[in-house]
Amino acid sequence: MGAWRRNPAQWYEQTMVYCELCGRVIPKNFWVVEEDSRELIFCDPDCEQLYRDYWVQTRRQA
Ligand SMILES: [Zn+2]
Repeated sequence: MGAWRRNPAQWYEQTMVYCELCGRVIPKNFWVVEEDSRELIFCDPDCEQLYRDYWVQTRRQA
């Protein structure tokens, strides 16, 4: 289960956070999901869902 998190970086620190799925830069609030002891970061739960659909499909085709 994921959770919303706020980017703690100040604007002058320029810590870029990118969505795992679409690669967009997320300026403030991002959606974090823990998986296999690492964190996946998404724009929102929709991107997480698409990511999972994508990987499930890829595994099926392989
Ligand atoms: Zn995204």
